[in-house]
Amino acid sequence: MNLFRRLYLLTTLLLAPVPAFAQWQAGVAQVDITPTEPVPLAGYGGKTRLPLRVVHPIWIKALALRDSAGMTSVLVTADLVGLSETMVDLIARQALEKHGLPRERLLLNYSHNHSCPVTGDVLWLYYEHTAEEKAACDRYTKHLHQWYDEVIGKAIADLKPAELSFEQGLAGVAVNRRRSRPGGRGLGGQVDQDVPVLVARSGDQIRAVVFGYSCHTTALSGLTISGDYAGFAQIAVEKTFPGSVAMFVQNCGGDANPLPRIMGSNEAPAADLAQHYGDILAEAVRQVVRGKMIPLNGPLVVAMGTTELFFQPGPSLDELRNRRPDAKGMVRREIEHWIAEYESEGALKDRVPYPVQVWRFGPELTYIALTGETVVDYSLRFKAAYGWDTTWVAGYHNDLLSYVPSLRVLREGGYEGTTGIYEYGHRAPYTETVEQQIASKVEELVGKTRDESLPP
Ligand SMILES: [Zn+2]
Repeated sequence: MNLFRRLYLLTTLLLAPVPAFAQWQAGVAQVDITPTEPVPLAGYGGKTRLPLRVVHPIWIKALALRDSAGMTSVLVTADLVGLSETMVDLIARQALEKHGLPRERLLLNYSHNHSCPVTGDVLWLYYEHTAEEKAACDRYTKHLHQWYDEVIGKAIADLKPAELSFEQGLAGVAVNRRRSRPGGRGLGGQVDQDVPVLVARSGDQIRAVVFGYSCHTTALSGLTISGDYAGFAQIAVEKTFPGSVAMFVQNCGGDANPLPRIMGSNEAPAADLAQHYGDILAEAVRQVVRGKMIPLNGPLVVAMGTTELFFQPGPSLDELRNRRPDAKGMVRREIEHWIAEYESEGALKDRVPYPVQVWRFGPELTYIALTGETVVDYSLRFKAAYGWDTTWVAGYHNDLLSYVPSLRVLREGGYEGTTGIYEYGHRAPYTETVEQQIASKVEELVGKTRDESLPP
């Protein structure tokens, strides 16, 4: 530690003791994104699923935070299956141009809800839509872009003095779903059942309760609009704390399902289960909020960077052309997509950019935001590295990208390891560098936020 830092620390300790709560401002907003016309449902491939009814409305919600340094940052959560790169770029550009929000101060998480409309070009190879259905999806996506702009603007306009606090609970809903597949019984059963909770209060009023969980929102698979178990949990939390906005963050649920679940269109028992799982999660949140929480003193130091994830070699153009005549459904769409890529680019993409964000709220909480469908190993690894009590790891930010396996899951293979990669339009599974590429970037960014919390 250099002399200046020592002096700074000494001065901080002697002259300016950290108050119980630092000076934060918080603003909260929500926008109802329930479709007003039938738009095909997202998340499960195959036959088009048109919604028959709305169980409860779906939302995007935003928490704007301004720390004592005067910097504004916004976290947006959504009852959506995911965003695409195009959507993220557009939402981020709007946020910068209209609200002056730099990219690194905007977090875009989605619950990975499978009971919401198809959005933009997310998982576009999955679905076989008619021109009419596609037009409905496009109209909905256009609205969504406006709603993102609206929710961010409203949250910033709502900024007022607030106190932030953090603590974690536990809920036993998530099960490692790889074990539930044929031949999977012997696989590792890793789960992360922590429920991190961030609360913004103004006086006695709880204004926002942000909570996370690592589990697919797939209790439901029928023909209804809802937020699945995460939607039920948000409703239950808001009922407990009147006047609050509850926001669900999908953490690293790439390989977890709420189990058991009831597949198919028989809605009543499935909805009961989703409600039940939501209630369990909400109870975990309730216990945290009513217990002793740790004040967050800030400042909020943010860092963002991009690494690259590499793919193994893919099929040749000849091979694809040979496979095309016999291919059907999604496999055919994948093959045609790659042939088109060969024809326009001369080769298949050998890598993808992988954005990572870190928000450090002071020593009490570091929030690590990863991209895509990250499996649970990432959460466990980074919490072990940076502190079980002070680290929140969440995937499902930015574009849905693909499943993001750890080295263990990649080597085990199966859906989240290898075979699920093609439906995202990628040529082959990731190489064995995938976990290390992400871990190195996270380490760099966490280091940056720790360094920058002190003056140079
Ligand atoms: Zn998924």
